[in-house]
Amino acid sequence: MKNLLGGKGANLAEMASIGLPVPPGFTLTTEVCTHFYQNDCQYPKELEQQVEKALNLVESRTGRKFGDSINPLLVSVRSGARASMPGMMDTVLNLGLNDITVEALAKKSGDRRFAFDSYRRFVQMYSDVVLGIEINHFEKHLERAKEKRGVKQDCELLPEDLEKLVKSYKAVVQLELGEEFPEDPKAQLWGAVGAVFNSWMNQRAKTYRALHDIPEWWGTAVNVQAMVFGNMGNDCATGVAFTRDPSTGKNEFYGEFLVNAQGEDVVAGIRTPQELTIRARQSHGSDLPSLEEVMPNIFRELLSVRSQLETHYKDMQDIEFTIQQGKLYMLQTRNGKRTAPAALQIAVDMAKEGLITKSQALLSLKPDLIDQLLHPTLDPKAKKEIIAKGLPASPGAAGGKVVFSADEAVRRCKDGEKVILVRIETSPDDIHGLHAAEGVLTTRGILSNSGMTSHAAVVARGMGRPCVAGAGSITVDYAAAKLSVGSVTVTEGQILTIDGSTGEVMVGEVPTVPPQLSGSFGTIMQWADEVRDMKVRANAETPADARQAKEFGAEGIGLVRTEHMFFEGQRIVAMRQMILATDEADRRQALDKLLVMQREDITELFRIMDGNPVTVRLLDPPLHEFIPHTEAEMEANPMLGHRGCRLAITYPEICEMQARAIFEAAAEVGRSSKKLPVAEVMVPLVATVEELKLLKGVIEKTADAVKKEQGITFTYKIGTMIELPRAALQAGRLAEMAEFFSFGTNDLTQTTYGLSRDDAGSFLPEYKAKGIVEHDPFVSLDPDGVGELITMAVQRGRSTRPEMKMGICGEHGGDPASIEVCEKIGLDYVSCSPFRVPVARLAAAQSALKTKGEQTKQSSTKATKPRVQFRSSRGDQDSNFAFAMAKWVYDFGDGK
Ligand code: PEP
Ligand code: MG
Repeated sequence: MKNLLGGKGANLAEMASIGLPVPPGFTLTTEVCTHFYQNDCQYPKELEQQVEKALNLVESRTGRKFGDSINPLLVSVRSGARASMPGMMDTVLNLGLNDITVEALAKKSGDRRFAFDSYRRFVQMYSDVVLGIEINHFEKHLERAKEKRGVKQDCELLPEDLEKLVKSYKAVVQLELGEEFPEDPKAQLWGAVGAVFNSWMNQRAKTYRALHDIPEWWGTAVNVQAMVFGNMGNDCATGVAFTRDPSTGKNEFYGEFLVNAQGEDVVAGIRTPQELTIRARQSHGSDLPSLEEVMPNIFRELLSVRSQLETHYKDMQDIEFTIQQGKLYMLQTRNGKRTAPAALQIAVDMAKEGLITKSQALLSLKPDLIDQLLHPTLDPKAKKEIIAKGLPASPGAAGGKVVFSADEAVRRCKDGEKVILVRIETSPDDIHGLHAAEGVLTTRGILSNSGMTSHAAVVARGMGRPCVAGAGSITVDYAAAKLSVGSVTVTEGQILTIDGSTGEVMVGEVPTVPPQLSGSFGTIMQWADEVRDMKVRANAETPADARQAKEFGAEGIGLVRTEHMFFEGQRIVAMRQMILATDEADRRQALDKLLVMQREDITELFRIMDGNPVTVRLLDPPLHEFIPHTEAEMEANPMLGHRGCRLAITYPEICEMQARAIFEAAAEVGRSSKKLPVAEVMVPLVATVEELKLLKGVIEKTADAVKKEQGITFTYKIGTMIELPRAALQAGRLAEMAEFFSFGTNDLTQTTYGLSRDDAGSFLPEYKAKGIVEHDPFVSLDPDGVGELITMAVQRGRSTRPEMKMGICGEHGGDPASIEVCEKIGLDYVSCSPFRVPVARLAAAQSALKTKGEQTKQSSTKATKPRVQFRSSRGDQDSNFAFAMAKWVYDFGDGK
């Protein structure tokens, strides 16, 4: 029920329903948020009554009362959207404290210091989040109180200091707002609820949504939950954990905790957190005892929670827990963020452990993760001048110019510069800078050996940016825009390299090497290959690209753009000579030179592909890319001008030369290799069957001539690209001539939309922002228009030639969403750039699994839809009823 309850609310309800110890509470649904924004920030009219009822339920389950002078209930109020948006929205803790309830809390806990410290924190947090008063107004008073008492740490203040501090804090509110701090817990509650809903529209949240494609209309839920305290003495603690190592994926419990502390202390890095397990403590060489040693019973309980959660969610979880006076409470669980290698390791391990199936393992991985694995790491042989070492918080190496602010990172990135963002620590306000930077370096924030919970580490990992966190020996001076460590000073704009896998920080640019792919990568690729239906080929012209593609598992070349073979060195001269030739004799002279080069290149490609198909496309040159750019010699050739097969129609000798190059290469490789080459000659930009007929004639004639000359036979196919709407419409007739189709979806998108590939980028972002198109159609295949044309062409083509091979070779061939469209249409293969080949293999496997899953679902679904039943996690009659009436509020928790 994530959509209705938000991620946090749904998981709290879920944990409660599987019997885990969750403090009772309730969720105001995301529909309240939607209603709020659609109705001028008004709540639905039944809401107040439902909240009242839910609150009563929490009171009866905890045996406490809101605002009570003897046994007061305190609650936390937290946001929780469908997708996790860490730190983007607001939270208020200890709500319900006032001058009366604080005394009760002091008495009940027997700890006056604790009660007033909670009160002080609450007034500050509420004033910041709900009343909009800046935190530094309060921090001044805190500093002064510590000075007066002659102490350094907050926790050294005496109860009377804290009591006075609360008074000064309230005076700040009076001074800033001209009104009293609200004492009535109900007023506090509604204030906090309103603040959380309002925080959905704050700038940080908006930026985060834009970066992560989270729609605004989703809204956030609000969770109101009974407080439990990890700071009520030495039998209390608070902690965070991952059920497996989020960095490597190892099946090891991983986390940290603090005795006698509240949740925020763990992340803030004020005290050194302790490890959970003896193993982790030993391997990190920490002398602080682990949870396993300090509270062995609780540790065992937590271990069982860990396995219960993994069995239930079938995924690695990121959890928050609190221990209050020897009792464990679960405050949150969610699927844990992880590095790309960890994601693969976890998927493979969980399948091997029998927790999930191989198919589930494949479907659990975002194909783009694979891309991160393929990124380079530092060359181990390179000389590097290490100036500092921090924590290896997010893997990969990156170099760039140092900047000290997120805004500067964005500015330089727009100018095409690579930057490393250096911050003392990062906050959600820096999110745009983290996104713009190649890598992130922080100097504070983590005092333990792990640091996996610091903001920079979590966000960088999510984005796939290398990150070194907590490099404490570095001093950053924002005002002077420089950092220093020992005798080294680095100013803004100078180059730094970071290695997020080792934590090393180096001056200057250190060379990198291609990635080493781990064992789990191979396993996932093998599993993907077992289930996918579509083949994956690569678009490649150079031997280096072809070799890379083969290494990544390409099953052939789907597109050799022959014009790309003539950009370099002396080659372009011959190409220009051909373009500018005034008669056939001149042109043939130039073509003779091109023939030699073309034959060599294609021979090499056939050899590398070793019996796999190689689709060589006849020249399709945008001519302006090849000719001199002086005005006198300039030749105009619009994008839809004298291109593709049109060129060969005008100058058949070009087609003849290319066909000869291909067939001579085929003859040569056929003669000298064990595996025969599979040559596919492809005619581009065809609109009419007559074009194809004419060129097919030229190609066949050339093939016959080469066979005769060489005294050898070889097989080949002649096919066409479908990249014009007319070709799609005429596919049935084209299939009489063509032995295969390859959909050139770059041009097909251009011509279907009537957009030019050259300038659409300048206004498509606005189309996206205004919701006119969901995705850039040049990036993600438009299923309704372009996809429809492809579907039709496939049907018409196959009705003429049933066994016809069909694939796609536009940029969409490497885009997971487009690959799914291709699977549904029934294409035989996708072809994409070499580095996308592994991504495409996984995406093709997922598409096959999803499509098969849908087919099974469809065949087993009866005509009547099952009735949706909403059930409270407690199965409580009363709350079921309230929920069924109007689902604004949903309660959870076991109240133990
Ligand atoms: C296409 O149009 O999709 C295609 C692959 O060809 P090019 O990008 O070379 O025009
Ligand atoms: Mg094209």
